[in-house]
Amino acid sequence: STATTPSSETFQIHLSDAPASVADREAALASPQFGVVFTDHMARVSWAHGSGWTDRRVEKYGPLHLDPATAVLHYGQEIFEGLKAYAHADGSVWTFRPDANAARFARSARRLALPELPEADFLGAIRALVEVDRAWVPTGEETSLYLRPFMYASEAFLGVRPSLEAEFLVIASPVGPYFPGGVRPVSIWVSQEYHRAGAGGTGAAKCGGNYAGSLLPQQEAYAKGFEQVCFLDDRTGTQLEELGGMNVVVVHADGSVVTPPVSGTILEGVTRSSLLTLLVEAGHEVSERPVLLADLRAGLADGSVTEVFACGTAAVITPIGRLASDDFDLVVGDGSAGPVTSRIRAQLTDIQYGRASDPHGWMRRL
Ligand code: PMP
Repeated sequence: STATTPSSETFQIHLSDAPASVADREAALASPQFGVVFTDHMARVSWAHGSGWTDRRVEKYGPLHLDPATAVLHYGQEIFEGLKAYAHADGSVWTFRPDANAARFARSARRLALPELPEADFLGAIRALVEVDRAWVPTGEETSLYLRPFMYASEAFLGVRPSLEAEFLVIASPVGPYFPGGVRPVSIWVSQEYHRAGAGGTGAAKCGGNYAGSLLPQQEAYAKGFEQVCFLDDRTGTQLEELGGMNVVVVHADGSVVTPPVSGTILEGVTRSSLLTLLVEAGHEVSERPVLLADLRAGLADGSVTEVFACGTAAVITPIGRLASDDFDLVVGDGSAGPVTSRIRAQLTDIQYGRASDPHGWMRRL
């Protein structure tokens, strides 16, 4: 091992020759839309078999030039992450548990036969990018700079085998509050036709293909008047797994909380794990065990299930107000965000925005 810690210092900075004007940037920050406008720069590290990770740099945000035979375009060998940078009242900028995203990124890389990026480079790239594009971190309530690290197979070769070259990048987009009009419950279509993942598949990895496969079910649910899809396990079709981009949690009248276990077919959410910790500390009995659709339906019908919510980085917590499928249609609680959902959401966002202390050491200053 080496004594030097790769950090933002090891990233070469090549400043953009055409950054957004202050007026354009201020306009983008005034009404940020998720994933539409990007900052002036991107961080980048290249990998090749034999030479490893090299050429750490921050450069002008812009198009990638890909040979048409580039492996990712054909076989989807690609992974990504999603996390946020938060401006605190004193002007400092922080991320939330980025080490957990780095670890998940490494697990995803392993599953997709991509090279593992060292945690120091994952964090170093984020730090270097946010340092250069500091002016792009919005300061309004519940705003943040969304960070999208990703890696793709960049070798121009049509053989079906792991690419001998890969590119790692981080891009960043200012985002506004997920619920501008206040937290609002969503309606969920439980898919009994499509599955997101299967045993031994890639469900636990954050790879593009998982999301490509979720688009048709999502489109069909939307056409039926629902906002999101909840997937069931593929073996029995009886257990809730997760939504296309969020984990799912069930709250009972007695205060107990249940969420599906991390069993290889769902993504291990950073928000999920953090909320479970906070719920245990708040005195809830928390279990990670299979959630049977039949039990959930019965619990909603007899009132023993009082709240259901989805959780993930983008929305933190989204209350679920309605769950339906071909053979049922149920309202959760009174259709508004329940007390446990609201309380735990406020508790987590207070930590993320520096309004509350951080006893778990989850926040990392950039
Ligand atoms: N499940 C899926 C399929 C997701 O894409 C996400 C978003 N990354 C999550 C769950 C929630 O994960 P996290 O809390 O780490 O954002």
